[in-house]
Amino acid sequence: MKCPHCGDHHHAKHRHQKGTSAVQKHGHYRRKSDSRFIQRYFCHQCQRTFSLAIHDPAYRQKKRRINHPLKVLLASSVSMRRAAKILGVSRHTVAKRLPFLAQLCRDRHAQFLDQSPAIRHLQLDELHTIDHTKLKPLAVAVAVCAKGRKILGVEVSSMPATGPLATKSRQKYGPRPDRRRQGLQQLLARLVSHVDHHAKIDTDSHPYYRALISRYFPQSAYRQVLGKKAAVAGQEQVQNKGHDPLFVINHTMAMLRANINRLVRRTWCTTKDPTRLADHLAIYMSVHNQMLTA
Ligand SMILES: [Zn+2]
Repeated sequence: MKCPHCGDHHHAKHRHQKGTSAVQKHGHYRRKSDSRFIQRYFCHQCQRTFSLAIHDPAYRQKKRRINHPLKVLLASSVSMRRAAKILGVSRHTVAKRLPFLAQLCRDRHAQFLDQSPAIRHLQLDELHTIDHTKLKPLAVAVAVCAKGRKILGVEVSSMPATGPLATKSRQKYGPRPDRRRQGLQQLLARLVSHVDHHAKIDTDSHPYYRALISRYFPQSAYRQVLGKKAAVAGQEQVQNKGHDPLFVINHTMAMLRANINRLVRRTWCTTKDPTRLADHLAIYMSVHNQMLTA
């Protein structure tokens, strides 16, 4: 046992010898927020007390009970406001808990990747959503493991508005940088050490994938699959009927859209801040990998 104030950690067998520095039990309390018994300790070295709760990531949270259910609700197409109603807390509590839960999920995801065997088949794609208004679109790059459907990583990037909205967007918000390549690079860079050198990698025929994949995974077996439209237009051979080579990534993208409330199309729950969207995605990824595809 180590004292968090002075770092002293003499073995408990010294605790009855007066004058030696040691940490000893010093009463207990029942934590109000979850009724758990928490042991307190006294440190003879610095004459201060402490409890083990100090090492709990939820230390000093008054509503720790909501952490797990909130994570599941946010990954089940429930809005932050509705989650607050269901859990009987204020929406400010939910808003404050989002980045906290996201960080826990990110840490856990990093561990998950470290402990997983090298990935031998992955699929990549991008979905588009908006930052509050259609004039400010966002791209979300997603990588999944084709075996087991685990999400390996996500990255949110800004992109300029296209089509009829492009001019209006520039007038109202100025030029909007296209960070999709950088986003994809960051995603690939994080995955490099977890992917087998000769892994199979599949994407659709989006033009900038090939260069990036050959840079980060030069020895991979890269395959570009023509989208259904292109295939039907007869530019290349038509895919086998009924078989979708990008099934896993397409299915995962559909799950993201269905289960992350702010990605649902025609929703009134939109992202107001790309950082919060990234937090929400980190939480979904954790629930997806640990509950939905377990
Ligand atoms: Zn101490």
